[in-house]
Amino acid sequence: MSWQACPEPVDLEGAGGPRAVEMEIVPRSRDIGAFEVGRVLPFAKRRMVGPFIFFDQMGPAVLAPGIGMDVRPHPHIGLSTVTYLFEGSILHRDSLGSVQLIRPGDMNWMTAGRGIVHSERSDPEIRKGPERLHGLQLWVALPKAHEETDPAFIHYPQADLPSLAGEGVNARVIAGRQFGRTSPVKTHSELFYVDIALDVGARIALEPEYEERAIYLVSGRLKVEGREYAPGRMLVLKPGAPVMLQAVEACRLVALGGEPLDGPRHIWWNFVSSSADRIEAAKAEWRKTRFNAPIAGDDEFIPLPEAI
Ligand code: MN
Repeated sequence: MSWQACPEPVDLEGAGGPRAVEMEIVPRSRDIGAFEVGRVLPFAKRRMVGPFIFFDQMGPAVLAPGIGMDVRPHPHIGLSTVTYLFEGSILHRDSLGSVQLIRPGDMNWMTAGRGIVHSERSDPEIRKGPERLHGLQLWVALPKAHEETDPAFIHYPQADLPSLAGEGVNARVIAGRQFGRTSPVKTHSELFYVDIALDVGARIALEPEYEERAIYLVSGRLKVEGREYAPGRMLVLKPGAPVMLQAVEACRLVALGGEPLDGPRHIWWNFVSSSADRIEAAKAEWRKTRFNAPIAGDDEFIPLPEAI
């Protein structure tokens, strides 16, 4: 995904939420072409949750026949992109030669490190018909020791991710540890990411294993410590205690977080770094050489924005 910056949002809700909820974040709507995204992170008053520095909800949208997603080749540094779909598909291509159709329940983990170029488009065949598209793209800031690591792309099919089912709960551990299960996804820092579906009335306790945690309610109504929440909300949770989640209606949500990162990060367009100079170098590099990293079969590109 390619990021366009936006004015800082006005503040959301006042105090008075339940004890477990530190902050409620309402996404801002952004048009990225064929459909809208809801941008949750970065948020003015909460830049990161663990190492997660960016959180976009794509859709839900219906793409008419012939209309597709077309995020042209663009660069990243200093982060991993984490793409996970609920509906539809995205064709990922990158400068390492990866070509991967992402399907619901799969996990695509692309580490930019010192630099990668990728594109995200609709598959040409699938584009011929109508298609629903709904998913999440998150960015994980890399720890300082790994910011300049080699770029990498790993696709984990749904079947490789541990799940649990029963008592109205269906959950998949996308990354890290939760609910007594551990994902095989390799990460550069301590983090977790879980997809949870709850039937009406079902409950599950989110464990306090990681210091920073948040949930994002994708659909349905959820009760947290006696208060009900509507979909399209991120609830940043206080550390140290289990948090009981109860579905007032059938719910879909994700939970994520991790240990605090080793310092603040600069974020400009698609670049993340602990160093402002490194961001400037990446800007110059994209402008002059486009990272010398072509993508086979996709020679368009997104120019460096003049200003953000
Ligand atoms: Mn991207």
